[in-house]
This record gives sequence, structure tokens and C-alpha cells, in this order.
Amino acid sequence: MLADEQLFKVRVVQWILAKKTEEALEALSKYYRIDIPRLRVGMPKRSGDKAGCYVSAIKTIHVASEERLYDPFVILHEFYHHLRTQDGKHRGTEKHANKFAQDYITAYQSAQGYSFRFSYEY
Ligand SMILES: [Zn+2]
Repeated sequence: MLADEQLFKVRVVQWILAKKTEEALEALSKYYRIDIPRLRVGMPKRSGDKAGCYVSAIKTIHVASEERLYDPFVILHEFYHHLRTQDGKHRGTEKHANKFAQDYITAYQSAQGYSFRFSYEY
């Protein structure tokens, strides 16, 4: 059995992949008891060619393109910055943001592996 926390992570990734990013952000914000970030397609000026960024002043996650809206790694990475900006001080490091996103994706991937083996036995 997967722990509740693992199931939550699997569900969040599933939502993002199913193009229900708003729902995923709502669930994440509820889970961490913080405000829901805004989500916008299109990057602020001078942001280079990054896939996404978080602007804490307006609590907004920007993604470079519509397809990035459904990219769990980008969404979760930027959500981490939102999570870490709650006290108005720390943005969190890129390394930690990547680790946060990777944790969710790993949970999703191991659940996929589990259900694959499960159905394969039938
Ligand atoms: Zn970042």
C-alpha cells in the first residue's frame, strides 16, 4: 500500500498531466495551507528562455507556453518557490525546487510501475 502522502503526490502529477493544473494547484495549496498561486501563460520580460518562473510580488507562476502548463516538473518546481515565499523572505534554492518536483514525479512513476506489474499479472 502507498502512504497517503505518496497517493497525494501521484494524484497531483496525474491532474497536471490531465490538463487540470488549476485543480492541482488548488489541492497543493490546501495541502500546504497557503494561498493558491495565480497561473499565467507567457513570461515576464527579460526572463530569457526559461520554461517557467515565479513572481512573488504578484504570487504568479508564469509558464513559457501552453504546453508547459501540463508539465508537472515545471509546475511543481515553480509551486515550490510559491511555497517558500510565504514568509516573504526565502525563495528556496533551485536545487530544492528541483528536488521537490522530482519527489512528486518519482512517486507518480513508481505508482505507474506498480499498476503496470499489477495489471500484467492478470
Ligand atoms: Zn526555480
